Amino acid sequence: MYDTIILGGGVAGLVAALNAGRRKLATLVLEGELIGGQITWTNMIEDYPGFDLIDGFSLADKIKNQVEKLGVEIKPEKAVDAKKTADGFEVRTTEGVYKSKTIILATGAQARKLGVPGEAEFLNKGLAYCATCDGPLFKNKVVAVLGGGDSAARAVLFLTAYAKKLYLIHRREELRAEPVLQERALAIANLTPVWNTVVEEVKGDKIVRTLKLKNLKTGEVSELPVEGVFVEIGHAPATELAEKLGVELEKGFVKTDKNGSTNIPGVFAAGDLTNGPLKQIVTSAAEGSLAAFAAANYLGKG
Ligand code: NAP
Repeated sequence: MYDTIILGGGVAGLVAALNAGRRKLATLVLEGELIGGQITWTNMIEDYPGFDLIDGFSLADKIKNQVEKLGVEIKPEKAVDAKKTADGFEVRTTEGVYKSKTIILATGAQARKLGVPGEAEFLNKGLAYCATCDGPLFKNKVVAVLGGGDSAARAVLFLTAYAKKLYLIHRREELRAEPVLQERALAIANLTPVWNTVVEEVKGDKIVRTLKLKNLKTGEVSELPVEGVFVEIGHAPATELAEKLGVELEKGFVKTDKNGSTNIPGVFAAGDLTNGPLKQIVTSAAEGSLAAFAAANYLGKG
């Protein structure tokens, strides 16, 4: 019986583990994909205190090392179910079943989909959701990035080292990315912004060949030849396990108080799946720490 099981090994989950470990809670972290979560999708973190510039893998590795030194267990297992039991909680993974007195939900967010024809068909055949993971495969290619937020701006800044031509396709005529990122992205010499435009279909044969575009102002429909397309239109909270536990959501995000408590006693949440106002690495870290603190208090070990 663990004191706490942390679902998710992104920044929120790892920092929750760091805090729980320092409080000597018997702690298990379950992460079915990459340790570090969303930060492993970026090579350019400039807003985390103490680092002018660090890549996501390195930052994740540093936090993971700190956590492991405390004796916290990290298992590379995907949690598929979680439920309340008479004496706490039970989490089922692809490998086994684990019991705990509390749960910290830190399942983060997953890439939002466009929902247009061809998107699923051409996944990994020219279409991808993570520029820093797959960008190097597009050396000397013509690549489109969809979106207007930080993710899209960071994607073009990364891809400029590889692609021979970049399009930034956005449904409005101004970006919502941080002003510093906007400025740098729009200054890329081989980038053409395509404003007020949505992708209606991803087309090709064995691989992506063109995007069917629609200009929302003029109604004009056109075809843009591309060899790659990165869908960078934000992230949706991964609340499946929260919902299985009966946790209350607000506009799709897990509703917490300022300490990370949910409506279910013993269940806490931190990071991008919560209804917090700012989705940054530093806020995920802070929320992780608070959730572990709240769990420790709940256990009488605060
Ligand atoms: P975001 O800020 O929600 O931006 C999503 C963009 O995609 C918006 O420009 C939106 O257009 C567009 N969009 C959404 N749905 C669309 C659709 N169906 N079709 C076409 N366009 C669509 O998402 P994000 O860029 O992933 O950023 C999310 C949060 O994570 C932000 O708070 C950001 O600061 C943070 N973040 C931080 C880092 C970091 O390293 N510090 C990196 C990435 C993200 P509209 O503008 O018209 O709504």
